Amino acid sequence: MISQETIVALASPSGAGAIAVIRLSGKDAITIAESVFQSVSGKKISNQKTHTIHLGHIVDEGKTFDQVLLSIFKNPNSYTGENVVEISCHGSTYIQQQIIQLLLRKGCKMAQAGEFTLRAFLNGKLDLSQAEAVADLISSDNEASHQIAMQQMRGGFSSEIAKLREELLNFASLIELELDFAEEDVEFADRTQFKELLTRIEFVLKRLIDSFAVGNVIKNGIPVAIVGEPNVGKSTLLNALLNEERAIVSDIAGTTRDTIEDELVIDGIGFRFIDTAGIRETKDVVESIGIKKTFEKIEQAQVVLYLFESLKFKVQSSEYIIEIEKIKNQFPLKPLVVVINKIDLLSETEILNIKEQLETLNVKLQTISAKNNLGIDDLKSQLLSFVNTGALRNNETIVTNTRHYDSLLKALEEIQKVRFGLDGGLSSDLMAIDIKQALYYFGEITGEVTNDELLGNIFANFCIGK
Ligand code: GDP
Ligand code: ZN
Repeated sequence: MISQETIVALASPSGAGAIAVIRLSGKDAITIAESVFQSVSGKKISNQKTHTIHLGHIVDEGKTFDQVLLSIFKNPNSYTGENVVEISCHGSTYIQQQIIQLLLRKGCKMAQAGEFTLRAFLNGKLDLSQAEAVADLISSDNEASHQIAMQQMRGGFSSEIAKLREELLNFASLIELELDFAEEDVEFADRTQFKELLTRIEFVLKRLIDSFAVGNVIKNGIPVAIVGEPNVGKSTLLNALLNEERAIVSDIAGTTRDTIEDELVIDGIGFRFIDTAGIRETKDVVESIGIKKTFEKIEQAQVVLYLFESLKFKVQSSEYIIEIEKIKNQFPLKPLVVVINKIDLLSETEILNIKEQLETLNVKLQTISAKNNLGIDDLKSQLLSFVNTGALRNNETIVTNTRHYDSLLKALEEIQKVRFGLDGGLSSDLMAIDIKQALYYFGEITGEVTNDELLGNIFANFCIGK
């Protein structure tokens, strides 16, 4: 299904850079490019082989726009499966815009968001989950999410799903066949084999569904709440972790009223830090809103860093220990690290004393000086210890996409219905209905079953030029 219109868009990030890439795709991509390109060798690019690069100038009506490199990819051997031309020009936004406008005048249409990848999908170059992985790959900013996106793009779990779908389809047609011979009471579909297949499918679906918990967290970053009274050094800690001055540090207590989120990659895993106010009782309206927010943030966080200031802890230890117990009771399952900051202000003996007091509480403890960068690496290790990256390390398939997750859940539900039906001796015609429904959800993942709304939703999330 080669498209009639030829589309054009900037494929590299918008803004100025050393070079920019302008991409054309469609039946006339090469002819249109040729109409504005003078190669240094004097050769016509339409006579050139696919996957070749040519040096020349973009010229129109005697005006030279830029010296460029032009790459040609001929249908069907291109990303979209259509004729594709990529123009690498100098990266000024002016040059980019001039060339794109010239190409629009020559008959190209501006590409919609994700239209290149949509065309690749429509031309059978990618299945739907692979197309979605393209978007993930582009937006992945750490090793873990990159690894998952790459795996999905290589066809990771969609090939697994497609294979199971095919086996299921086989049984479906055998059962349909039985319906045609309803009078004769025949069994074309071997019930034992069918049951074995259903068990296998169920196992795979459950594993993929379970992987979403890890996948989702890795894709979006692990949320970590940094909680503590004003002025204990939350922002300084964030800066130390982030190694840059992004959160606001101030000497005035309560400056960090709004929660700030920042991302940090530790050992290939993305963390999202949420800087929040403490949980002390207060009459101040703004602050009590802050406290409510803090509880909400703790709720959403995967890990909580509870920060105290060493000097105050020394004086008010019993009060603070009650506070820690309160948090532990409120969120018994939430991984919690009690962090004592500003240890540069205490003696060794005083630090040991605090550690001893906290031992009875049975919580993870980390002493640091955010300002002097002491204990920060140990804290990072503590954070990593909470992340279950087993599946990632073992290179198992991980589902990160909510749409896939939903389809997998629905497919599992249908498969279980089929299995119950089989066990309970349900008639073939009723079973066939459940099987069809399961097949539908499988197809939703790989794109065998699509509709315009679904496609629109998926590709609208892409950037233009992708
Ligand atoms: P927040 O309100 O909890 O975010 O606290 P800030 O990060 O704004 O820090 C409050 C004050 O404590 C600032 O003046 C920091 O420089 C200071 N501070 C932070 N960490 C340390 C530390 O490890 N040692 C010392 N001595 N001061 C610190
Ligand atoms: Zn702060």
